[in-house]
This record gives sequence, C-alpha cells and structure tokens, in this order.
Amino acid sequence: MGLFSKLFGQDEVKPTPSYAHVKIHPEVDNGVKAGDPNFGGGMLRCKCKSAPVVVRVGAQTMHNHVCGCTKCWKPAGAIFSQIAVVPRDKVSVMENADKLSIVDPTAAIQRHACRDCGVHMVGRIENDGHPFYGLDFVHTELSSQDGWSGAEFAAFVSSIIESGVPPGQLPAIRGRLKELGLEPYDCLSPALMDAIATHVAKTQGVKS
Ligand SMILES: [Zn+2]
Ligand SMILES: [Zn+2]
Repeated sequence: MGLFSKLFGQDEVKPTPSYAHVKIHPEVDNGVKAGDPNFGGGMLRCKCKSAPVVVRVGAQTMHNHVCGCTKCWKPAGAIFSQIAVVPRDKVSVMENADKLSIVDPTAAIQRHACRDCGVHMVGRIENDGHPFYGLDFVHTELSSQDGWSGAEFAAFVSSIIESGVPPGQLPAIRGRLKELGLEPYDCLSPALMDAIATHVAKTQGVKS
C-alpha cells in the first residue's frame, strides 16, 4: 500500500495521459528500440532506387537522438529527424560519392546530401576548433541492419515551430516524447551542453 492510500484510505488515481496518436519519427513511434552493445556498425543507403549512395559506418553510434531543428534531414511526414554521431575516421563513402553535395557550405555541420533523393548521408565538421570536431552525424535509419544505438533524448524541440508545427501542439508532443523516454530539451541534452561548455572553457583557458 502506498503512502497516499495509507493517508487517505483510497487508491491513488494517477492520470496517465496517452499521446500515442502523436507521431514523432517512424523509428521511435512504436517505442525506442535499444541498441546492441556489441553492434559494430553497418551500411547506410540513400533512397535512390538505382545507384544509391552507400556509406560505411564502422562502429556503433553514440548520442542518438531525435532533433527538431530545421537543418537535419527528416523522412517524409516526420516532424523530427533522428540523428547520431560516430568518429569521422569510422565513416567512408563506398559507392556513388559523386552524387553527394554539401547542402550549406557555410554551416558548422556540412551536410552531404544525395543530389537525386535529397537524403543527408553524413554531416561533417571541418572546423577543428568546434566542440564536436572529429564526430560525424549520421541517420542510422538508412541502414537495413538492426542493433544501432537507440534514441536517448529529444533536442531542439521548440524549433519544430519554425518548420510549421502549430505552437499549441507542443504540450502533446512533449508529452509523447516523455512517454517514449525521450526527455525533451530545447537545445541539446545537458551532457552535450556540458561538453560544449567544457570545450569553450578549455579554449578560453578557464581553470576548474
Ligand atoms: Zn539518393
Ligand atoms: Zn537537427
């Protein structure tokens, strides 16, 4: 018997709102699949029916998350993207590299997209002073293999409004993210924000 019942002599009625109707991204809408810790990577393919771009990722991904920003590639109909990082030396383009072009060469993350289907195959940071330099951004849903790390949190949630999601839908969307175990943040997760601040502090010679 819980404390509530002891004090008030009745069962606690906990409302459990269900937001299952709220769609986030096909990879998480039916529950986040846990990754296999022994998974060693695989192949990503763009959506072209013929001559797809093929990228080899030779390691398990880290910090997989859903992202509400307007820059990440999303599958049709999804309001979030799903994106993870992996050391850049583990990423290589195996086939049809000539179809890739950089979406915005001035952006910190250079997203290499397929010219024909528009899918982003790898996001790379070329500025070696950037906190995430050395990590490439990849969408593991482009792989047919199972075992990739599962999404852990939701980043840049409020930014979906910039893509046209009515602000009034945000409470239900945050509710759904929490139901899925994807803590919603309006920037990155605390762990990643701490990593960025640590990098900045080091760069500025701050002693801790
Ligand atoms: Zn393509
Ligand atoms: Zn994003």
